[in-house]
Amino acid sequence: MSHTLKGKSALVTGSTSGIGLGIARGFAEAGANVMLNGFGDAAEIEKTRAGIESEFGVKAVYSGADMGKPDQIRQMVKDAETQLGRLDILVNNAGIQFVSPVEEFPEDKWDAILAINLSSVFHATKAAVPAMKARKSGRIINLASAHGLVASPFKAAYVAAKHGVVGFTKSVALELAECGVTANSICPGFVLTPLVEKQIVDLMAQKNIPRETAVRDVLLLPQPTKEFVTISQVAALAAFLASDAAQGITGSAYSIDGGWTAR
Ligand code: NAD
Repeated sequence: MSHTLKGKSALVTGSTSGIGLGIARGFAEAGANVMLNGFGDAAEIEKTRAGIESEFGVKAVYSGADMGKPDQIRQMVKDAETQLGRLDILVNNAGIQFVSPVEEFPEDKWDAILAINLSSVFHATKAAVPAMKARKSGRIINLASAHGLVASPFKAAYVAAKHGVVGFTKSVALELAECGVTANSICPGFVLTPLVEKQIVDLMAQKNIPRETAVRDVLLLPQPTKEFVTISQVAALAAFLASDAAQGITGSAYSIDGGWTAR
C-alpha cells in the first residue's frame, strides 16, 4: 500500500480483533498514526500496539473505552485528539451480535446491541465533528453491514442497529457536505472473524452439521460468491475512503458482500 495516509491520525473503535484490527493495520501501513480500542488480554493488546509501531514506523496508542458507555466514548475521542495531535479519521467499527427469535430476544441483548452497534456511532461522531469542521477536513467511516441494507431472520437487534447506522451516516454526510468532512458506511457480507466464528460453532451444534455444511449451505447461502469477504479487502476499501482521492464520496453505503445485495 502506498503512503496515501501519511501524517494523518485515525481512531478505529473495536480494533483489537477482526475487521477493526485489519483496518487499523492497513491505515498504519498507509502511513497513519492510529488509536486502537477494544477489549482483550492486556499483554496481547500491548503486543499488537507495539507491533504496529515497529512494523510501520507510525505512532500507535490504545484506549480501553467501552463503546456501551457514552462518557468513555467522549473521553476516548479527547484522548485521540491529545495523544495523536488531532483526529482526521474516525472509524466506528466496534460491534457485537446476538441471534434469537424475536419473541425470545433478551432485553439486555437488545439494549447492548443498540448501544454498542448504533448509539456509540452517534456519541463518537458527535465528539469528533467539532474539530473536523473547524479544520474543514475529516473522514467518518462507519462499519454497517449487508444487514444495514437487507435483513435476515433472528437478527432483529443487529439488523435494526445496522439500518440505523446507514441512515445516521447519510444524515451526517448531508450536514457536513460543505465542511470538507465526508461520512460513509461500509456494508460487508460475511467476513471470517471471531464474531462469525461463534455463529459457525453455534450452527454446527444447533443443526448437528459439519463445519463445511454450516459455512457453505447455511451461513454463505445469501452470499453468491460462496466465499468469505476478507479482512484485507474491507481494510483496503476503508483506506480508500479515508484517502484524499475519496473527497467526492459522501453519504454512500458501500457494499462489499460477494454479491449478496445484488439479488
Ligand atoms: P470481532 O468480534 O472480531 O471484533 C469486534 C471488536 O469490537 C473487538 O475488538 C472487540 O473487543 C470490540 N468490542 C466489542 N464490544 C466492545 C465494546 N463494548 N467497547 C469497545 N470495543 C468493543 O468482530 P468483526 O467481525 O471484526 O466486526 C467488526 C464490525 O464489522 C462490527 O461492527 C460488525 O458488526 C461489522 N461486520 C462484520 C461482519 C462479519 O462478517 N464479520 C459483516 C458485516 C459487518
